Amino acid sequence: MKKIYALFLLTAFVVMPLGTLGQKKASFGEMKELQGPQNPRLGFMIHGGAGVIRRGSLSPEREKEYRAKLEEAVMAGYKALQAGRSGLDAIESAIRIMEDSPLFNAGKGAVFTSEGKNELDASIMDGKTQNAGAVAGLRRVRNPISLARAVMEKSEHVMMIGDGAEKFAAEQKLEIVDEKYFWTQDRWDGLQRILKREKEQGNTIEDGKPENRFGTVGAVALDKEGNISAGTSTGGMTNKRFGRVGDVPIIGAGTYANNASCAVSATGWGEYFIRLTVARDICSLMEYRGMPIQQASDMVINKKLQDLGGDGGIIAIDRFGNMGISFNSEGMYRAYINAEGRPVVEIYAD
Ligand code: ASP
Repeated sequence: MKKIYALFLLTAFVVMPLGTLGQKKASFGEMKELQGPQNPRLGFMIHGGAGVIRRGSLSPEREKEYRAKLEEAVMAGYKALQAGRSGLDAIESAIRIMEDSPLFNAGKGAVFTSEGKNELDASIMDGKTQNAGAVAGLRRVRNPISLARAVMEKSEHVMMIGDGAEKFAAEQKLEIVDEKYFWTQDRWDGLQRILKREKEQGNTIEDGKPENRFGTVGAVALDKEGNISAGTSTGGMTNKRFGRVGDVPIIGAGTYANNASCAVSATGWGEYFIRLTVARDICSLMEYRGMPIQQASDMVINKKLQDLGGDGGIIAIDRFGNMGISFNSEGMYRAYINAEGRPVVEIYAD
């Protein structure tokens, strides 16, 4: 009798509905059902930035490279979770892989400021403790996400910027690189194109235009302890003025995590994400209004952000493994672990 009861419990546990995942502009009623991984206590999702990414805009080779790197990163994070490591570990390892790849606008491959420099921002947040770490305006730290985590765990502060943050990175024995490490031909050409256009048009092109940014990276995780967390890393926007800080290192704007609601990592036109405190707003809708994760994500991205004239997207996860994806841009590089524990990589809106 006991055995049958145990079997029943086990079956109920394994087959319980694990998550929902919506598509771009999915209306609240037509959310796509998606199951999380077999183990309902694990969940992992990443993004590699939102922007103008249409079918046909990437060469087949380029698309393959993106897909492979996204898969590598999402699997690295998921394996860390499977090995029993924390969501923070999973996030840090996945984001480091994307920071080290020139494909993404984070770490190597970061876009250039109007002065031709790279200035990097990142943040991380632990949903259990509400601890957070953020860094901005870095020029020589190879992996900004690791410095954000060090600020959270090894300092008494939440946010550090510029030279001070870099000094702290050195003290923490994080890898410091020459500024040239971040230089890539693609991003340099991107800046030259914008500067040329600016000159021709005789006025200032809005820095936030989707074509001026690409490839911010982020991750959200649910670990085996049932804790959720989020992290984000970026080079910001091409042609940003020196000293400009975007939403990524602003806790509540580009990154937020709270076990009571959800964990969010954002990408998009940072100024709008700051003004709307996008990540916190999604969590608040869940916390105070009891909204499901996808509905809350759509409300903030497809309604509030859209109405204000901003663009971009988010990935989100809650304590039960429900996942949310929402973006009002043409595409968003993203990957998650499905019901079979396999990686699913998506780029376009359709
Ligand atoms: N949100 C980033 C920023 O404004 C850019 C992006 O996600 O594309 O710095």
